[in-house]
Amino acid sequence: MLDPTRPIHVALASDYGETYAGQVAFLVLTNLLVRMTPAVTVSGPATSLRVGPRRGSGDVIDEAVAEMATIDPYSNVRAVDAVPADALVFSFGRGPASNVVYGAGWNAHFGSGSPSFADAEDGNPFGAALAAVLAGAHAFAREGHDASGSQSFNAYDWTATEHAARFVPAQMESLQAWLIGCGSVGSAIAYFLTFAGWRPQWTLVDGDVVKTHNLDRSPTFRDTDCGSNKAEALRNYLTRSGVRSVTAHPAYLHQIALLEQRQNGIPDLLFAAANEYDIRYRIESALPPLQLYATTGKQWQVSLIRHIPTLDACSCCLFPPVAPARPDTCATDSAVNDSGEQIDAALPFLSFAAGLMTAAEAHKLSSGREPTSPNRVTLNTFEGQFRFVHSRIPLRDGCVCADRTTEVHRAMLAGSRFAHLSDDRVEQ
Ligand SMILES: [Zn+2]
Repeated sequence: MLDPTRPIHVALASDYGETYAGQVAFLVLTNLLVRMTPAVTVSGPATSLRVGPRRGSGDVIDEAVAEMATIDPYSNVRAVDAVPADALVFSFGRGPASNVVYGAGWNAHFGSGSPSFADAEDGNPFGAALAAVLAGAHAFAREGHDASGSQSFNAYDWTATEHAARFVPAQMESLQAWLIGCGSVGSAIAYFLTFAGWRPQWTLVDGDVVKTHNLDRSPTFRDTDCGSNKAEALRNYLTRSGVRSVTAHPAYLHQIALLEQRQNGIPDLLFAAANEYDIRYRIESALPPLQLYATTGKQWQVSLIRHIPTLDACSCCLFPPVAPARPDTCATDSAVNDSGEQIDAALPFLSFAAGLMTAAEAHKLSSGREPTSPNRVTLNTFEGQFRFVHSRIPLRDGCVCADRTTEVHRAMLAGSRFAHLSDDRVEQ
């Protein structure tokens, strides 16, 4: 997708490379770049790995090179001592440099110069991962060109201001997270949550198989996954990453009675990263728990979507059923709403951004915090110009959610981790 004759070099500064955030940023961007070009080189001092199941026994440079070679065995990735001639260089550290990639806490910086926000050594992966994804979007949009300025954002309330909120480690005891759709966006959600220490009881649902083009868009699929069921391939990734409780259903949601036969209060959280087979109507008809996901659009935008039961507009307000919903009908085309948004991300940095935004939002809410933004936040990345836009999804007249009874819905949510969000409260 990028000019394979133009090398991209990723340089990790020693002090940043010793931090958890620095290693996350480095591993995310190298993972993303090798899905866009085979010509990636890396450099940095030998630094003990602090991320993933090999932490404490590996080296972060070796880890990045090994991971890239596994993702694309036909690539030419390697560690080098000197920056290759003509390479576009991304510098991980506080800079100054032409393309500084730096994140700490919830904050992210990409571009020339140095970040103004403070360091944070708190195990928060989200600011760092956001900086890496912005760098990847820049590599695609402004191929071969250095950044013309710098931009900083935070992954807490999705604004351009610094945010100093404390990072609270995830409380995973008995948390049940269902992921419906394990393609590019769904697998990216699980990927970023794993960096944040998420070890929930995962239930993965997808009837599709990994195809070659999925390797360009998902941060978890590798060459050897081709032909495997997506839910099973993602389970294998999570298992390799040290996540123990993962149940994979190699089927579409309508082929199993998961939703219909569930107990009250289960699951705590539903990531709805699929569109086919009238899936949103099925979910909304079954009195769902908190739903989070992100859509991607043709104008290179990513929208983080949140549906708090009994409070927010539902997913069918956003994606009206395309035909009268009938059980067991044939597949409809991927659902697309009025703004052309859909789940299936065509560009690799879009699915990474979609997964990152969804994961950050889930983590924030899991630590007992109230939402800090409206139920839709859109990241525009067109031509490498980054901007977050906040907007509220309106209720749609005649939607399935209008027929639901709040008391019945709350009874279905009782005991779930996020039920308190649906309590009566003042609208934001
Ligand atoms: Zn609705």
